[in-house]
Amino acid sequence: MKTTLLVARPHLSSDDLAIAADLLKGGHLVAIPTETVYGLAADLFQPEAVKKIFYLKGRPPDNPLIAHISAIHQLERLVQNPSPLLLRLAERFWPGPLTLVFERRSEVPGIVSAQLPTIAVRMPSHPCARQIIEAVGSPLAAPSANLSGRPSPTSAQDVLDDFEGRLSVIIDGGECSFGIESTVIGLIDERCVLLRPGAIPRQAIEEVLCTTLLDPPKNGPVLSPGMKYRHYAPKARVYLVDNQDDLKVSKGSTYLPDDLNAQNLYSHLRKADRLGYLEIVIVLNSQIRSDEALMNRLTRASCG
Ligand code: AMP
Ligand code: MG
Repeated sequence: MKTTLLVARPHLSSDDLAIAADLLKGGHLVAIPTETVYGLAADLFQPEAVKKIFYLKGRPPDNPLIAHISAIHQLERLVQNPSPLLLRLAERFWPGPLTLVFERRSEVPGIVSAQLPTIAVRMPSHPCARQIIEAVGSPLAAPSANLSGRPSPTSAQDVLDDFEGRLSVIIDGGECSFGIESTVIGLIDERCVLLRPGAIPRQAIEEVLCTTLLDPPKNGPVLSPGMKYRHYAPKARVYLVDNQDDLKVSKGSTYLPDDLNAQNLYSHLRKADRLGYLEIVIVLNSQIRSDEALMNRLTRASCG
């Protein structure tokens, strides 16, 4: 299969939009840009298409997907009894990088949310993502467009590196502005829980709720199955150190990213792999330590 890149800066031409929308309506997958990371999209109401996402990524079937919508009325097709707390967050942060976990309507194919009674939903702000969802006329199920376990893709080239020849169309919308995944919020007994730290900081959400966010309980059922997998890992081994002298750095085989932040983390990890480095050493300065989402991804990409 030949992989074609369709360029969106920031919108797709009407011809290219028709190509992408027809593929999705026909039950095929298309990689799309969003403001967080690139997504591997399928029409959410076609279970056979959604199945292809798990197959192509090598994603464990118990790791649920996020539904992407372009207008608030689409929420009605996906969720029931929406909590006013979650709706308040949607009103404040949508469109944008916040994912909210609602009660799932029974009409939503179970494969999307790994048979959980809930469904994670977000409304992206990226103009091209919104354009495509609107043209398909249906919410899209879309996890990050990387092979399972690899760093998330923040450019069309990253998607191509993982899926060249296995995907017919990748939409090139340039570099993702956030470069890190959405924040995921769920509910326990009508209290909001931070299931995954991400692009929207904890404090911004707490300000809107006027209360602190809970952390997921350590015991009991896993509320966010994606968080249990080692993740975001490049081929090179990742070491986190307090200062550079903590580890013998061998020149030539060690990649030392400078100016590391949440926005450029994945591009650094992928760059180190492209250049063939065997290890990546990250010096944890105070700026990195204070970024909860960045620390979460670093810990999960590293060997300790
Ligand atoms: P990805 O799209 O690859 O960034 O991963 C989606 C993330 O959302 C994973 O961490 C999932 O565990 C989480 N997620 C998706 N659906 C649900 C759900 N119904 N309940 C809890 N977490 C979810
Ligand atoms: Mg992912």
